[in-house]
Amino acid sequence: MRTWHIHNHCTIYQVLGGRSNAYLIATGKGNILFDTGKTHARKRLLQNLHKLPIPAHSIDLIVLSHTHFDHCQNARYLQQRYHCAIVADEEESTFVRSGFTPIAAGTSIGFRLLSRLANYLHLKSMSYLPFDLLPRQQATALLHQLDAQLQILPTRGHTQGSICLLLAGHTALVGDTVLGYWGKALFPPFAEHPDLVLHAWQQLLDSPCHTFLPGHGRAVSRTTLEQSLHKIRTKITPS
Ligand SMILES: [Zn+2]
Repeated sequence: MRTWHIHNHCTIYQVLGGRSNAYLIATGKGNILFDTGKTHARKRLLQNLHKLPIPAHSIDLIVLSHTHFDHCQNARYLQQRYHCAIVADEEESTFVRSGFTPIAAGTSIGFRLLSRLANYLHLKSMSYLPFDLLPRQQATALLHQLDAQLQILPTRGHTQGSICLLLAGHTALVGDTVLGYWGKALFPPFAEHPDLVLHAWQQLLDSPCHTFLPGHGRAVSRTTLEQSLHKIRTKITPS
């Protein structure tokens, strides 16, 4: 299992990989699960959680980068199993009450057609069991209690309610704001506001973080993210 040591007490474990990633942050004061993967990955997720050097039944909080099905289909199940709260941006609250978050618009013709078709069909496989979110103030207080150096960064772009979680200015968990395939930092194929995705990349680079853990693919380094942002900006405004 891939592991990142942040400081003396804080460790990140990648508890799901493959199609969708999920990470467990053990802060020393409690455990936070960042994203939960799809329903069919549940068994693998539970097996990996049980392998960790943390007491069973000790997830204190679930943080969702956003509420597309591939990030939150296990949220309700895990909330009931571990009796923990769920945090996501309040912009996602209407969706989590209905159990369906529309796929964002495609950033190319092919993906535009795909997202329209997916939203039109409203497939059951892209739905999830509704759940409640912890109000913002309580969420901030609980995060602070678990680790004073944890910070939620709103990074609207992929969805209106996308967030990243920054750990001690060291590592950021970035959901679908950055994808990590083929050794590159990739622009998400679906985004409500593509210009805001680039703004979010700049926000991440303005932080001291040097490692970015995406919702899909492998860890992205600061240099790789800088190079990818530069490449995209050069394409948009050639000199
Ligand atoms: Zn997404």
